[in-house]
Amino acid sequence: MNITEKLTNTHELVLIGRDDAVGYHGIIAIHSTALGPAVGGTRFWNYDSEEEALTDALRLSHGMTYKSALARLPLGGGKSIIIGKHSAPDRPALLRAHGRFVDTLKGRYVTAEDVGTSPADMEIVRLETQHVAGLIGRSGDPSPYTARGVYRAIQASSQFLLNTCELSGLTVAIQGCGSVGYHLAKLLHEAGASLIASDVNNENLSRVVYEFGAEAVAPNEIFSVKADVFAPCALGGVLNDETIPQLKVQIVAGSANNQLLEERHGAMLRQRSILYAPDYVANVGGVLNGCTELLGWTPEQALEKINAIYDTVLKIFQSADAEGITPNEAADRLAEERLKQPSERPEDRN
Ligand code: NAD
Repeated sequence: MNITEKLTNTHELVLIGRDDAVGYHGIIAIHSTALGPAVGGTRFWNYDSEEEALTDALRLSHGMTYKSALARLPLGGGKSIIIGKHSAPDRPALLRAHGRFVDTLKGRYVTAEDVGTSPADMEIVRLETQHVAGLIGRSGDPSPYTARGVYRAIQASSQFLLNTCELSGLTVAIQGCGSVGYHLAKLLHEAGASLIASDVNNENLSRVVYEFGAEAVAPNEIFSVKADVFAPCALGGVLNDETIPQLKVQIVAGSANNQLLEERHGAMLRQRSILYAPDYVANVGGVLNGCTELLGWTPEQALEKINAIYDTVLKIFQSADAEGITPNEAADRLAEERLKQPSERPEDRN
């Protein structure tokens, strides 16, 4: 399906914004507001073309709808992008221009931090719009909560496949040791797992080597290392025709969005007997923590729901097995069922 078809067939609204006075070029994609306002972060990335950025925005906002629906949240799916180098000297002006762009939607889209942006950046966006979450002193950085959810997804995968959720003695290969990868490495290390790690950023890689004893490998070697779990925590599309045949793991569970380059790569993993915890199920922890700010949950409520990612992942594996389909198909089916119904749980709105 090409981009135009995706736009026509699946998305409610896609906007391209420019503010030539400050050199701003951005995109807001709203996939669905069927269950509530579209929520999704702002990605700041130096794409090769507007088309590439648009494809990313469409895929990411679609994933956000399914993520919120599956977690039974009264929220929809959206995503926005600032196209440019995130080290740009005029960064505050670009973030403010983005805030003005978000504000034109009057709350139909609520943004937050994402790859290339931080809670401090969201404070700058906040100068122009109130439709922003993940602020300092409020729900803040979602990454430790996302990592906690991924950790629970790894535990569920281990329970399903190996009949134990004890992770000590397992080896986990982490691709990407940034915000989520670092916190995931910490949790796994504390649980007694051994780590293998790769990153294109040496500083981020060194942190997990020195703090958690991870074995460092080159970025292109992480796919072929012998381990129990592969945890993609960098960018999307890493499960593809080239990488899947190289994998020597039993489980794939990580935080990156859109890990499968195409749907069929879920089937390819299944053919190789590799258990895949669908990305948007495993990585919903940050959004759940954001609900303390968006929906007024207490931190305890958020933590309880993050821990329950374990149950959701297990349920998806069980239904995939029972129906003879892949876990990503089982997750999509469940999310689509929920999208057809308004949120049945009024307490989610508290
Ligand atoms: P981040 O930018 O802090 O970290 C990403 C890390 O990946 C960086 O250290 C980067 O150098 C590294 N990287 C990039 N390309 C690489 C490659 N080819 N090989 C190895 N390492 C590479 O981002 P993050 O916030 O940790 O998010 C990681 C992933 O998880 C992203 O896909 C993001 O969309 C997804 N995610 C994050 C959150 C969150 O709460 N931060 C929530 C849901 C999903």
